[in-house]
Order: sequence, then C-alpha cells, then structure tokens
Amino acid sequence: MTMATSIIIVGAGPAGLTTAIRCAQSGAAKVTVLESRHLSDGQEGNGSDSNTQSFMESPPTADTEERGKSFRSVFQRKNIFQLNHWVFEQLTALGVHRDNDTLQASRVGGIHLCDQYKPPDVISDGSPKERLGTRLEASFTFALPCVHDAEAIREVLRQNPAPALSNLSPERLRDDNIPFGVCNVPVQALQRSLYEVAGAKYADVIEFHFGVQELELVEDKDHWGIRYHTGDATATQLAKPDLIVLAEGSRRALAFKALTKEVLMESSPQHFLYYCLSASGTQCAGADIYFRRHYDEKLGTMLKQALVGHPATQAVVSVQIPPSIAAIHPERPSLLQDQIEALVSGACQRFHDAFPSLTSDSLLPDPETPITVFKVQETHLKRYAARNVIAIGDCARTGHFNSALGAAFALVSDVNAVGALVDAVVSREQGEQQISVEEAFVAFDAALRHTTQVFHDHDLTWFYERF
Ligand SMILES: Cc1cc2nc3c(=O)[nH]c(=O)nc-3n(C[C@H](O)[C@H](O)[C@H](O)COP(=O)(O)OP(=O)(O)OC[C@H]3O[C@@H](n4cnc5c(N)ncnc54)[C@H](O)[C@@H]3O)c2cc1C
Repeated sequence: MTMATSIIIVGAGPAGLTTAIRCAQSGAAKVTVLESRHLSDGQEGNGSDSNTQSFMESPPTADTEERGKSFRSVFQRKNIFQLNHWVFEQLTALGVHRDNDTLQASRVGGIHLCDQYKPPDVISDGSPKERLGTRLEASFTFALPCVHDAEAIREVLRQNPAPALSNLSPERLRDDNIPFGVCNVPVQALQRSLYEVAGAKYADVIEFHFGVQELELVEDKDHWGIRYHTGDATATQLAKPDLIVLAEGSRRALAFKALTKEVLMESSPQHFLYYCLSASGTQCAGADIYFRRHYDEKLGTMLKQALVGHPATQAVVSVQIPPSIAAIHPERPSLLQDQIEALVSGACQRFHDAFPSLTSDSLLPDPETPITVFKVQETHLKRYAARNVIAIGDCARTGHFNSALGAAFALVSDVNAVGALVDAVVSREQGEQQISVEEAFVAFDAALRHTTQVFHDHDLTWFYERF
C-alpha cells in the first residue's frame, strides 16, 4: 500500500459500509464501494434491472407468485435484528451517532411479551441447555432498559470495566451481547444511516457504485485487480487497488476465487421456517424480540423459536424444522404443505398458551405472507487474507441467527481488524510504525480466526446441542 492508499470494498451490507467509514477515517486516499443491488430511487446504478433487489428496499413482502407455491423455499432475510451495545459504540466512534433519527425511530417502544420472564434463580437445572430459553428471555427484558436508560449501561460498565473499543475482545463482545442488546433495528435503517454518513462526511473519499454487474477479480502479478460494469455495457472499469475488502456476504463468489475454495463447516445444517403473525388487534406482538425453546414430545426433538416483533403491524416467527423432515432433501427441505401447516399451527398454539394476553387473531399466520424456509450453518473460510484481498462479515464466516452476534462481530471485531491493518500500513508509510505490510496481514488473519473461533464455540454450545 502507498500513502495514497486505495481500497475497494465489495458489498454495501452493514460490514462493507462500516468498513468504508473506518477506512476513510484511517486516512485512505480513496475508498470505492461496489454493490450489486440498486438504490431504490435509482439515484445510482442504471436502475433498469427490475429483478435486482434494491439496497433501500422496504422489508420484503410477499411475491404474489410465491403465495401460490406449496413449497415455499425462497428465503428473504427479514430486515430486523438485535444489535449489540458495542455496535452502537462503534457507530458512535465512526460518527454514525446513536441518536441518529433513522436508528432512533426503529427502537423498541414497549414490552408486550415479558410475561414469561423468569429470573435465573428459579431455574433448578444449571446446564446451559436448560438455561437457554430463560437466558434469552432475560435478554428481552434486560435489553429494554439499555435502550432507554444509558445510565443502566454505565452502571454495568462501572462494575465490569471494558477496554477501549478498538481493543474489545470477541469474548467480551459475546458476553455483553445479551444484556446489552438493542432489539428491532431494521437492517436497512442501519445501512441507510451508514450510507448517509459516508456520503455526508466522506464524500471526497468514499465513492459508491450501485447496480454493479459482472464483477470479477483479475490476477495481476502478485496482486488482485477488479473488473466490473456500472450498468452501462460500455463502462467496464478495471481497478488495481492496494486493498480489496470482500464484504459480499455468504455467497462468497469472489472469496472463492481469491482466498480459498474451501469453506469449513462447523455444524450440521439446521432449517427454519419464517412466517408472519397477523396482528390486527391492539395487543399485537410487535416491537419486541423473544426467544423460546421447547422439547416437542410428538416429534421427539428439540425445537427453537424466535419471535421478533415488527415495529409496524406484524410479528415474524421462526420455527425450526425437525432434522428428520429437513433431511429429506438436505439442500432444500421439500416440506409438504401440510407439514408446514402443522409446524406453524403447533407453534401458534404454544405462543397462544405462553401469552394469553395476546388476542387469538394476533397469533394466526398471515395468509398474505409466504412461509419461507432457510438454512443455518456455522461455516467459515479457511483463510481470510491473501495478497491484497481480505474477507470480513458473513463472507468470512456465518453463524446461527439466534445468537444475534453476526453483525456485532462484523461491525466491531472485523472492522477493528481492518482498521488496524489499514492504520498500520498508512502509519508505516508515514514512517511512524515498524510493522511490515506482511505482518499487518498476518495479524488481520489471526484476528479474524480468533473471532470465528469465539463465535462458533458460542453457537455450537447453545444451538446445536441435539443435532
Ligand atoms: C435471520 C437472520 C437474523 C439475524 N439476526 C442478527 C441479529 O439479531 N444480530 C446480529 O448481530 N446479527 C444477526 N444476523 C447476522 C447478520 O445479519 C449478518 O451477520 C450481517 O448482516 C452480515 O453483514 P454483511 O455486510 O457481512 O453481509 P450482507 O448483509 O449479506 O451484505 C452483503 C452485501 O454484498 C452485496 N453483494 C454480494 N455479492 C456481491 C457482488 N458480487 N458484488 C457486489 N455486491 C455484492 C449484497 O447485495 C449485500 O448488500 C442475522 C442473520 C440472519 C440470516
């Protein structure tokens, strides 16, 4: 890298956008973000491909064609997640202030589902498996004071001081995830905030290209270059940046080319159903997150459920598909419609039993929204850095969505690691630091490896006990 360090980031997901701002802060001369999706209003990219998902889209809604399908297997990630308190610290450090209107608007307004909260001392069996449900339920109640009461966070930190954010270990981040979680942050709100800050504060450094097509890596001696179309067929670009950050999510198309074709699987796959509950009554389940687990006697298997309240009108529920059913087709469980209905109605009944205060119509699956099936698995790349290419976020590793840690590790641990890499090289160029470029890349790889280990150890302990 040179003092005029140029960096290309592939993917404008949470990890890519946060990295872009961090790199701009490091003093990189030029940061280019390439995103295959279009901006919703067509401000950039050619906007002509109506099949391409939009970057600023609303939460996914039912495709009319999908509704008629008996095997509903198109997984659309629901755009809401729980963010670790440390993510907000990171956002604050990067100038995406925690009181940013977009994020603020997404915060939790009230508690509807805390009926089931049991303090840890009423649990007789101390095993992690048995405590799982309660622990996650506790997160639900603990999270809320943190949203509204910064004093509560300060008090916990006073008792258990944390290191500087830039030195925060993945272990500490993991341990603080539950008590310091902020529920119900739409992914798109986070992306919008990051994008706005990147545009407003670093417009002269960060350049965005949306709707990028046919992006490919090109080998160039000991470096990788990158070629892409910006939509106009004649406008092929070829760049030879100092650093390419792959934040392309779990598809990993470019990572397979530059880093490794080998993805290591740490767990057997689990399959889940997503469906929406209608919430027409005032007692809707919205605006909160809630996890449950239970042993299904009939199926003879442990199932887990996460209930995430949508801030508007609907609640999103996920139910684990028993392995015996999922195993029928490992890549795409071919569930019969009546099996889906049985799983959903069983889950509805259990929620109804758990939350008698909810109106029964709020516990019916929304007939307008397709039930989607998705696969969850602990996976990671064999290596995270090679030549001038590195991988972060879901491209580097995937974990279990119930841990609510993926984005936290990406935005805090991974972005810190990229920041340290870029800082080290920039300051070396300025004669302030002795670390070599090679050492900086090795340190980056080691940091990512460590984070993956902590992430997967956690998930394998908590979410894969039966399978
Ligand atoms: C159901 C579910 C619930 C979750 N809940 C939580 C939670 O509560 N808390 C938490 O911390 N984490 C959670 N996670 C994990 C979290 O969502 C991910 O870890 C995080 O979004 C990863 O961000 P990313 O930027 O790495 O990848 P992504 O969000 O996948 O972004 C990748 C981006 O790259 C773009 N892209 C892909 N290929 C290319 C290409 N070739 N060229 C250009 N652009 C490309 C994509 O369009 C996309 O915009 C959850 C995950 C799931 C699936």
